Amino acid sequence: MPNPQVEIEVKNSVDSRFSSALETLKRLVAIPSVAWESHDLTKVRESAEAVKELAREAGFDEVEILTAQQPDGRDGMPAVVAHKKPSPGYPTVLLYAHHDVQPVGDGADWNTDPWAATEIGDRLYGRGAADDKAGVMTHLTSVAAVQDVCGDDLGLGITLFIEGEEEAGSPSFKNFLQTYRDKLEADAIVVADSSNWRAGVPALTTSLRGVISGTITVRTLDHALHSGMFGGPVVDANTAMVRLLASLHDDKGSVAVEGLVRGDEPSLTYEESDFRKDAGTLPEAPLTGVGSVASRLWQQPALSIIGMDVTPVDQSSNTMAATARARVSLRVPPGQDPEKAHRLLSEHVSKHAPWGSEVDYEAGEAGQPFEADVTSEAAEAVLGAMRSAWSTEPVLMGMGGSIPFVASLVETFPQASILITGIEDPDTRAHSANESLYIPDFQRAIVSEALFLTHMNKKGQ
Ligand SMILES: [Zn+2]
Repeated sequence: MPNPQVEIEVKNSVDSRFSSALETLKRLVAIPSVAWESHDLTKVRESAEAVKELAREAGFDEVEILTAQQPDGRDGMPAVVAHKKPSPGYPTVLLYAHHDVQPVGDGADWNTDPWAATEIGDRLYGRGAADDKAGVMTHLTSVAAVQDVCGDDLGLGITLFIEGEEEAGSPSFKNFLQTYRDKLEADAIVVADSSNWRAGVPALTTSLRGVISGTITVRTLDHALHSGMFGGPVVDANTAMVRLLASLHDDKGSVAVEGLVRGDEPSLTYEESDFRKDAGTLPEAPLTGVGSVASRLWQQPALSIIGMDVTPVDQSSNTMAATARARVSLRVPPGQDPEKAHRLLSEHVSKHAPWGSEVDYEAGEAGQPFEADVTSEAAEAVLGAMRSAWSTEPVLMGMGGSIPFVASLVETFPQASILITGIEDPDTRAHSANESLYIPDFQRAIVSEALFLTHMNKKGQ
């Protein structure tokens, strides 16, 4: 844990830099860096240039804007990569965030101009104020603070990696890691793009579910038939499809596909009343599944029907459809091989084909789940730093969703400790109207990261 003298110096340094960091964050928010084709992509370049300049000011020796090819051969969006080389024997920490943002959606839903960061009380409103320009500024400010405190004794290598297309699905990310592997290699990777438990309570995100999707086609007839002339001895494909889909859950609402991994009960309690409020559940409906809310969200599979091709009601007639299609999305907990989940799902639908119908399963995406090693030195250092910065016990949090690029990081750098930290909280409304940052936690996140870096600043770990 950081020694008390260093703790005081770090906190003082961040204190003296904080108001300027907040102003710089507002300048970044003013750049509408949406990395979607339908938007002005020169703004993404402009925001990369701004981050590059800030990285220089923060004291990095080598700062570049890099791109890599997407699978379709086109160039991906500009990322900023900056280095402070390690002294011999010292480890290197990679600091990840992204400088692109989500589109604003319907401007009428915003109470303030999304591109003009506005302070109201202790929150800062604007698109990217939290996700993830606050992550960018957390890295830049903590690095500057560490240099204030350590001066010439800073032997730790620090690499800054600020992606420019995270909200657009990171199409060139995998290739980026391959192409610049040598530049990005690190002993620990801090991903500042998640959420804290709530305002005033820090969290380390230690597990993410993976996700697979597949398309099911059911065929009951050679061609569509008149329901009066033929109905009875044969059924239509829609009826067979709903019966097949119904077999995917049991009566309690748990996923009924046999052989899927279920993880251990998480130690953290997610109160049912909080979940009901967060999710906006129907007041009378019991929750589906079994086990604690946290277990159902983070450690158990969850299956949704995300699309169906059936005859629309307005176009319906007394005709029996010959085929129907449905797409299912299955979230899988840490420990589940996504390819195996595809196999199990495919076996399930073949086995449950109703009334001799022909059933086909076509496997789509397969995203890996993630589980952090919380016993690593780096993870313990981050938790210690959070404890000190927030003066409260940090929470080890799972996430029901996936961060696809985390799987790519694990794959490319299997030895590195991956630490998913956050500057968001449940009121942030990332991706929606009125996104906001809780300003006191922004300052604590900078202190925490600076303390973590000072802890890692020693030889031979
Ligand atoms: Zn983000």
